[in-house]
Amino acid sequence: MSYSSAVKDELVLKMDEARHCRIAELAAILSFFGRLSYEEQDEVTIINKEKEPLLEIVTENEAVLRKCFTLIKKTFNIEAEVYFRYKNGTDKVDDHLRIKSGLEGKRILEGTKLAVKAGTPCFLDFTSRTVLQADCCRRAFIRGAFLCVGSISDPRKGYHFELVCPTKEKAVLLQEMMASFHIFARVVARKKSFITYVKEGSQIVDLLAVMGASVSLMNLENIRIVKEMRNSVNRQVNCETANLNKTISASLNQVEDIRLIEARLGFENLSEPLAQLAVLRLSYPEASLKELGDMSKPQIGKSGVNHRLRKLSMIADELRHR
Ligand SMILES: [Zn+2]
Repeated sequence: MSYSSAVKDELVLKMDEARHCRIAELAAILSFFGRLSYEEQDEVTIINKEKEPLLEIVTENEAVLRKCFTLIKKTFNIEAEVYFRYKNGTDKVDDHLRIKSGLEGKRILEGTKLAVKAGTPCFLDFTSRTVLQADCCRRAFIRGAFLCVGSISDPRKGYHFELVCPTKEKAVLLQEMMASFHIFARVVARKKSFITYVKEGSQIVDLLAVMGASVSLMNLENIRIVKEMRNSVNRQVNCETANLNKTISASLNQVEDIRLIEARLGFENLSEPLAQLAVLRLSYPEASLKELGDMSKPQIGKSGVNHRLRKLSMIADELRHR
């Protein structure tokens, strides 16, 4: 299962307690998938005596349809009807939701502050944003929009969150809703759609928190931690390179000390082990302490080498202060 559908599976089950939040989430779904049908209705089930257009929710996303059904039932106490219709020119059946009574549909639109705008008979738009005023309701609205038209890329591959909107107005509205939570999305036109998108990992984490996807958020954070660890391993490698540079600069100091001893005291006045190490260090300025120990006869350990080098450095210091 893709990361995106895992997030949706989690969010589709989330049902807000407060009526205002449910209205906001329902408004999001209706603003993307809601339609007013003016077609002649001749089926027996229709009780459309009022000659009002019927409210339909049209989407292939069954989970969203089910959530919409529940939201309408719980919020307005209206039973939506699942109805089937043949997909254009095929024998494949699609199911949609329809509010059987035009007046009931009207009540839902009034509650969600949605209406058909002149010139765009297919879309429902807000007549006022009163249902989006509270923080909790804006969260629900963003969640509803994500369920309808959102996707998140697999965080192991990269960070990308987007909402594909049919109009610029809807894309900008979502951008504004996100900005109220300090999430700064961009809007870009793509073919016939407008995309509201976010590309920053930490902002996507914030979005998951805003929508209430706590399980998906934890999964994303785990992936982010693993990525972070990989980066820190890289940093450590860089750090080891820095240590290597330190070793080299230490070696240069040692060489300087040994040259001083050679000039002022002569190696013949050193003890045999110190003289041997002094010669080795001069011949191999880039060798590590362990390598110097391996070359010594008899072989000595790293700490032995370190001890002798310190002695050489002390002798050099004494010579300097004489
Ligand atoms: Zn609310």
